[in-house]
Amino acid sequence: MYLFVYGTLKHNCVGHQLMGNATFICSTRTSRKYAMVDLGPFPGVVHDKHISLITGEIYNIEYGLLCKLDDYEGKWYFRSEVPMENGMTAQMYFLKDIPSSKKDKSFLIPSGIWEDKMDEKAKGTVENILCTKKNLSPGHQDTLAYEVHNNLYLNITNRCSARCTFCIRDMADGVYGYDLWLSREPTLEDMITHLRALDLKKYKEIVFTGFGEPTTRFSVLLSITAWLHEQGIKVRLDTNGHAALINPGTDVVGELINAGMDAVSVSLNAQNEELYDSLCKPVFAGSYQAMLSFARQCIAAGISTRLTVVKVPDVDIEACEKIAKDMGASFFAR
Ligand code: SF4
Repeated sequence: MYLFVYGTLKHNCVGHQLMGNATFICSTRTSRKYAMVDLGPFPGVVHDKHISLITGEIYNIEYGLLCKLDDYEGKWYFRSEVPMENGMTAQMYFLKDIPSSKKDKSFLIPSGIWEDKMDEKAKGTVENILCTKKNLSPGHQDTLAYEVHNNLYLNITNRCSARCTFCIRDMADGVYGYDLWLSREPTLEDMITHLRALDLKKYKEIVFTGFGEPTTRFSVLLSITAWLHEQGIKVRLDTNGHAALINPGTDVVGELINAGMDAVSVSLNAQNEELYDSLCKPVFAGSYQAMLSFARQCIAAGISTRLTVVKVPDVDIEACEKIAKDMGASFFAR
């Protein structure tokens, strides 16, 4: 029986002695994409999320030893047979779910290689990494929603997984005269109460945007979207496309579809990863690829998708437009 291991059971890793008399066969990768998540001292792989091929080692193992490893992996994991890139099939452990105690301490490893986990010093919880602090002006009142051009824009967070060099947050306190810094993040109840008092049917679209990345509040975003969708109101998400990195272990596009999201506008921002990293300074490694993957998945799922760029030096507008067109997205340069 073959077992494929990708984390601490690998050669030279802390749990390898548990492999006992199992015989090393080869190093290889899975032939299908999954999502590897760093849970601290060990990784997990999410079966139903398709980010990257997983790199690991195949061992020939006796059934009795496999049962002992099942006990070692414990209640968080299940085992399934999967095809490998080299044509073999092997048993592999998958996460049943991200454990609740790890939910805000888990990070996607976009390469699918356990050794590529983020430097410990660069880590923090999602809350710590993404928080933006701002001193509010005297008499400040939070703006939860504001009208522009027949749309209603929702402002649910000031946190973001990027630090774009052109971010308006570094130049102003808001847009169109609305101060968009928040004294605290509004709860779902705050938002619904606020929206109930408005004539929502008069807007062309209701748009999640704001002084931050809306998918840092994914469950609130989904609940509001579903509530609006039930009323037949068109909903759009303006996003940096990092949702899968911010919410590891979540099928973000599937959840958006289920909630009834009609459209997304994704910040492409650059024609290549190097420029993107220098312009957007993303918190998570692999953000450019994650953003492109998010856009592709939205298109495949039937969500109306637009890619946008900001006209700043070094951004090749034509090349960016080609990326959008090749993908099947519309394009907007501002
Ligand atoms: S993604 Fe948007 S909110 Fe976040 S830093 Fe960039 S421009 Fe600002």
